[in-house]
Amino acid sequence: MFKKIFLILLYCCWISTNIFCQPQAFNQTDTFQIDFIDVGQGDSELIKTASGNYFLIDANGDATQQYLAVKKIKNLTAIFLTHPHFDHYSGLASVINHEKIAHFYETGYPSSNKTFLQLLSQISQKNIPKTELKQGDRLTLDNLTLKILNPPLGFLKTHSPINDNSMVIKVSNRAGFSVLLLGDAETTALDQNPFTSYLDSDILKASHHGSRTGINAHLLQIISPKAVIISVGQPNSYGHPHPQALAIYQMAPVYRTDQNGTIHLAVTGNVYEIKNRNPK
Ligand SMILES: [Zn+2]
Repeated sequence: MFKKIFLILLYCCWISTNIFCQPQAFNQTDTFQIDFIDVGQGDSELIKTASGNYFLIDANGDATQQYLAVKKIKNLTAIFLTHPHFDHYSGLASVINHEKIAHFYETGYPSSNKTFLQLLSQISQKNIPKTELKQGDRLTLDNLTLKILNPPLGFLKTHSPINDNSMVIKVSNRAGFSVLLLGDAETTALDQNPFTSYLDSDILKASHHGSRTGINAHLLQIISPKAVIISVGQPNSYGHPHPQALAIYQMAPVYRTDQNGTIHLAVTGNVYEIKNRNPK
């Protein structure tokens, strides 16, 4: 009987090395930090593992590299680009020029935008290994597990395909504390996500700078975050964050980079603290 269960588990792990089937060791002292960098109207998150390694998700304008320089960071274990929109990749050329990057991850969503193609060629010239990630992939970076919940293989075909095919990343430590980073994926993508049960997270980085189409009450109930962080700059012509979205997010404490500056999240085990790094 036990042999049969073992073989089934082994088969599950074998057939899908990219499906989430490994149990996590329980560790109440497991630490990590995330800086939600104030990059204006865009996104940029810097994650520090328990071993002191850094990885970056998105970069906008000069602010990301300036922040890394102030912190005297020279090496990044990885860069993740959620999707090829300017407000998420415009700062990456500068980061790649100044930092040593071990790996670059993106979704592979096609873009013929000239500056994006220049970025890809810069990555290739610097011989930075590049991997495309899709729904169901899973990475381990030191003490952290990254589950990729979007986009699906073959991508979604919606009214806003670049946003809805954003890489959605759930970062968890060994104690099970998790942060959900939605990129700009909107409810059209999230409502039909086959990994809905994985959306439940302790902290939510709101989708699409607090856009009205980035959240609904049902989704927030599924995610059930203890705090919501919105990366947004003022002024912006989109009306982000939208009052209707803010009304939904108010079910949890809301932190905004346009009001709070860079927001610092520090996690130990299941205990977290949120501080303004550079209060405005
Ligand atoms: Zn955006």
